[in-house]
Amino acid sequence: MIDLRSDTVTKPTKEMLDFMMSAAVGDDVFGEDPTVNELENYTAALFGKEAAIFCTSGTQSNQIGINLHVKPGGEVICHYESHIFKYEGGGIARNSGASIRTLDGDRGRLKASAIEKWINPLNDVHYPLTQLVSIEDTANRGGGAIYKIQDIEEIRGLCDSHHLPLHLDGARLFNALVETNVEYKSYAENFDTLSICLSKGLGAPVGSLLIGNKNHILQARRIRKVFGGGMRQAGIIAAGGLFALKNNINRLRNDHEHAKEIESILLTLPWIVDVVPVETNIVVAIVKDDQTRNNAISKLKDLNILCMPFGPHMIRFVTHLNVCANDLNYIRESLRKINSK
Ligand SMILES: *Cc1c(COP(=O)(O)O)cnc(C)c1O
Repeated sequence: MIDLRSDTVTKPTKEMLDFMMSAAVGDDVFGEDPTVNELENYTAALFGKEAAIFCTSGTQSNQIGINLHVKPGGEVICHYESHIFKYEGGGIARNSGASIRTLDGDRGRLKASAIEKWINPLNDVHYPLTQLVSIEDTANRGGGAIYKIQDIEEIRGLCDSHHLPLHLDGARLFNALVETNVEYKSYAENFDTLSICLSKGLGAPVGSLLIGNKNHILQARRIRKVFGGGMRQAGIIAAGGLFALKNNINRLRNDHEHAKEIESILLTLPWIVDVVPVETNIVVAIVKDDQTRNNAISKLKDLNILCMPFGPHMIRFVTHLNVCANDLNYIRESLRKINSK
């Protein structure tokens, strides 16, 4: 099987597993797991921030980040296709009691000018208090679109002028940074908190981190405990993340090349209407209708290639470290073989 449904499907390599098996562990709720501590310190230092906390999932690190910044009755501004709004089970309302102002923007990204209009006035009691802006880089629903650093800096400036915190859902941040070559620390300066995933393109089996200042991460430890995310000998899985951060970032460029290759194959096929221009490891193909989409997905499955429906008329293909250059020939032949109607 060539599994292109998501970059979450990667399996740990032998080297990663060996590293995990030899990890020193302790009780992390007591702060005594040396490998978790190392991962947290390493990640914080990488981004030039004071602290980081290891979380069970990207959903958890986002939800903790949001819970840190907002109070019940407050409001979070985000894109209407953002993961925190669309794919976290209503967690903002449920965990934090906050309302959500969703905005539109090109390929899952927001602009400061759009956000500004929706920051509620402080002196009018009708409005919920705007308490957080959250953006996603790369933007999943935008087909792995990357923010321009200037746009992020403008959003930061806007947040500063309204004393608002800015959170990053950076589930695929490394996919963005290997392309833009923006320096990690100067990127992270723009955010109060950043969530990054180890279990997407980086290829670790489990885990995410929330990164921020000491005070935020201290509070985050309490929130993580309440959310049921206090783990014990978590060094076993943290080691997979540490290995991924040290070995698997630069190779994301290969995934991006493979995604561009899939894009160019798709563009030659009669049953493909269009492809969202590939920027990172996500390829979104647009077809005529849902029947074409479903046919293509099931025919590809018969040829041992998995991909996903991605909304009306859309199919998503995601490249990752278990898709190698040799698989591309097979993918090309198979895509040409099916003449989806
Ligand atoms: C995958 C993902 C997350 C986190 O998902 P988990 O499955 O909870 O780890 C968050 N944001 C985006 C954009 C994602 O793609």
